[in-house]
Amino acid sequence: MQNDLAIHEPCVPACIGSYAMTDNRTTTTRIVMLGPPGSGKGTQAALLSEVLGVPAISTGEMLRQAIETGSELGLRVAEIVGSGALVDDPTMADVVRARLAQDDAKDGFLLDGYPRTIEQVRALDRILEELGVALEMVIFVDAPERELIRRALARRREDDTEEVIQHRLTVYREKTQPLVEHYREKGQLETVDGDKSIAQVATAVQHLVSRGSN
Ligand code: AMP
Repeated sequence: MQNDLAIHEPCVPACIGSYAMTDNRTTTTRIVMLGPPGSGKGTQAALLSEVLGVPAISTGEMLRQAIETGSELGLRVAEIVGSGALVDDPTMADVVRARLAQDDAKDGFLLDGYPRTIEQVRALDRILEELGVALEMVIFVDAPERELIRRALARRREDDTEEVIQHRLTVYREKTQPLVEHYREKGQLETVDGDKSIAQVATAVQHLVSRGSN
């Protein structure tokens, strides 16, 4: 994610401070960030997290940390994550359930990288129901494929081969893209153009979540 920032113009959370929330507006704080790998949704989640004061929860980051620390989960998922395939839905539901139950997520959260399959959508619905809260918005950050590949190559981690990057995009198209229609039909989807500068996308995202009730 830091690499993401590095390949664009310099941008720190302060750069979006100029449109901080005002009191007479309603704020959306239970949000799913949806989008292909390389769309910049992780960067936007991190920026928005600063503004809203709710955690950005990246399941990819959580899994990478588990792999790094060599936990039981990490050992189990290392190979799958390295290949660009998806970790199984029940495992991901356990990870997300435990994370959303933590105290810092009680007033809101930004989910980055979850849900990624229709079964994960159902699991998330169940988890939120258990917690007695509801999802408020799904922000779809879209970008053309050539830009996704360019960004993915620019920020690739040591073990990311071009093949793995292509595989991630294929998995996205097959498993995750259908979620866009699902959330559109539910009336929860908002789309932003991710083929812009980080600051421009942040502005668009910010307007969506701070849309006033008056
Ligand atoms: P990301 O950083 O979101 O691109 O995730 C990196 C990798 O972690 C993915 O390629 C998957 O192998 C795994 N992963 C992250 N989130 C999920 C999820 N919701 N479901 C299944 N696998 C996931």
